[in-house]
Order: sequence, then structure tokens, then C-alpha cells
Amino acid sequence: MSQPETRATALALYPEDSREAAALLKQAVPLMVRHNIPPNPVHYALWYTYSKGREPELNRHLDRMVRDFEGVPAESAARLFREYIIRDELEDARSGQQQAINLVDGMERDISRSVRGSQHFQDRLGHCLDMLEEPTGERLPTLLSELQQSTRLMQGQQELFLSQLHSAQNEIKSLRDKLERAQLAATLDGLTQVLNRTTFTRLLEQALGAGQAGVALIMLDIDHFKQFNDQYGHPLGDRVLQHVGEVLRNAISPNVTVARYGGEEFCVMLHACRDLDNAGDFAEQLRLKVQALRIKARGTDQVLDRVTASFGVALAKPDDTLESLLTRADDALCQAKRNGRNQVHRSAST
Ligand code: GH3
Ligand code: MG
Ligand code: MG
Repeated sequence: MSQPETRATALALYPEDSREAAALLKQAVPLMVRHNIPPNPVHYALWYTYSKGREPELNRHLDRMVRDFEGVPAESAARLFREYIIRDELEDARSGQQQAINLVDGMERDISRSVRGSQHFQDRLGHCLDMLEEPTGERLPTLLSELQQSTRLMQGQQELFLSQLHSAQNEIKSLRDKLERAQLAATLDGLTQVLNRTTFTRLLEQALGAGQAGVALIMLDIDHFKQFNDQYGHPLGDRVLQHVGEVLRNAISPNVTVARYGGEEFCVMLHACRDLDNAGDFAEQLRLKVQALRIKARGTDQVLDRVTASFGVALAKPDDTLESLLTRADDALCQAKRNGRNQVHRSAST
């Protein structure tokens, strides 16, 4: 119990002013003398309270004692003092004690919660502490400050690392896209966007080497292209190559592979084709599509001279090599040229 609270309890027990208190003592002291009561603070308090009449039960106890014992035994006086004089204060003390217990219990709960809440953090700090020398009382604040600083540093480093990781991820993605584009570009002819000669040759060789049955090869060459270039210029000649390339690209399927073999010469590989006539028919369709092209000069309605191409077709034999098949297809193409151009010539199957 705090000091102001003790004073408040005493004032509640003895609210009399000094004149009233003196009047009560004037009654109490003659009673004590009459009953041979030793003059000490406990007895003064008991007979003062008796005179005041505040505790009728106390008065009955005292009356009975002086009658039965012609005085008040010391033990009885002490018991009555505890029960009637300091009882309220004891009650206050008990309730104060309970309040203190409740407060401590509450604090314990709060601290327990706080301890549980910070357990995770302590575990983490513990790991750091283990790595450091045993801290002394004086060093503890410094050590904790250092730990806090290093935690912030670690957090900063992690954030930096994370941002670097994101940058690296973006960089890797960008590089991977570039690589894929470069890999694709390496297989394609830049002008016409069909396969280039190197890639086509490799694929044809693979098809023949794997013993795939039914490989047919079509070679085509634009007719009088030198003349076209001379008449309309090289850039328009390039556009013709692009248009022919587009016709061939549109024919691409799982069984049809297309490439620019060089200059104004293209190759088409047919898979799963065992019939020369079928390959010839396919070449014929391409020829008609090339012939059907209507190419205009840029910015004008002027339609350029018709573009045609000659086709040589060869069906792979079991003993064909890359060179032998290419040669027979080229021979057939030359024959188509000789026969008057803008036509398909099938290589003799024997
Ligand atoms: P033929 O009907 O006998 O095939 O006659 P041609 O004129 O087509 O054949 P030639 O081999 O005499 O000429 C091929 C021409 O193709 C020569 C060259 O200028 C042209 N050429 C080759 N590559 C390109 C190219 O990438 N762009 C352009 N515009 N022309 C090319
Ligand atoms: Mg030509
Ligand atoms: Mg040529």
C-alpha cells in the first residue's frame, strides 16, 4: 500500500480533530488507570476506540475482560488490536496484496506473451550470439546494437541481392530470347525467311541417312532472272525472291521442307512421298502459284512482267547419297530449262 493510501485509511479511522481526540483520551486514560491497563500504544488505541464507541463489539470484549480478569491480558490485547484497530488496514493490505498479485500475474501473462512473441526473434539472435564471445553486462547494449545493425545490413543485402536476382532473371530472359532468335536466324535465309542451304542440306542428309522411305526432291530456278534484274533493278529482283519464297512457305507442312538453295534457286523436300508423279504434281502446283504472282512496282500500279520458274523433280532411291539425289534433281531442272522453261521435269526413276 502506498503512503498516501495509508494516510487516507488512518484519517478514515480517526477523523477527529485534536480537540475531539484530546476529549476521547481524557475518557480513555482514566478507564485504563481504573482497570490497571499498562500505558502502551496498543492499549491506548484499544481504550481510545472504546471511548469513541466506534466498535460496540470491541467494547463488549473489553467489558467482559475487565470483569472476568480484572484487566486485559497482553495476548488478548494484541488480538483485539489486530481484529478491531488494524483490521481494516489488514483488509486493505490484503486487497492491495491481491491487486499486486493480479498485477504481477497480468505482467507475467504479458511478459509471457511478449517472450513467446519474441521467441522467434531471440532464436535468430541466439544464432548470432553463439558466434560471438560471451557478452558481459557492459558489452550487452553494444552487442545488441551491433546485432541490430548487422540485421539491418543483412536485410539491405538481401534486398539488394533480390533486386540483383530480378535484374539477372530479366537479363537471362533477354539473352535467352536473343539466343533463340539467333539460333532461328542461323537456320533461315534472311531475305526469304525459308531455310538456308546449310540447314536444308543437313536435313536432307539426315532424311537419307535415316533410311526414310519416300524422300522426293524438287529444285526450282527462276527463269530469265538476270534479265529481270537488268530491267527492273536488283531491289525489285529481291522482292520477286521474297514473293516466290512466300509461295513456298505457304506450302510448308510436316511433310514439306523448303529452302533457298542459292541465288534464285530453291529446294523443296517431300517426306513420305513414294511416287514420282505425286512429287511432280506437287511441283506443278507450285509452278502455277509462282506463275500466278502479280508483282507491282512500289508506289505504282505497274504490274511487272510475269515471273516463272522451272522445276526438276527426283525421287530418292535406296542407294542415293545427298550428292547423287541433288545432281539428279538439278539435271531434271536443267532439262526443264532446255525444254522451254516454266515447266516441271521429272527425273527418270531408273
Ligand atoms: P535462266 O532462266 O537460265 O535461269 O536464266 P537466269 O537469268 O535466271 O540465270 P542466270 O544464272 O544467268 O542469272 C541468275 C541471276 O540471278 C543473276 C543474279 O543477278 C540474280 N540473282 C542471284 N541472287 C540474287 C539476289 O539475291 N537478288 C537479286 N535481285 N538477284 C539475284
Ligand atoms: Mg534462273
Ligand atoms: Mg540460277
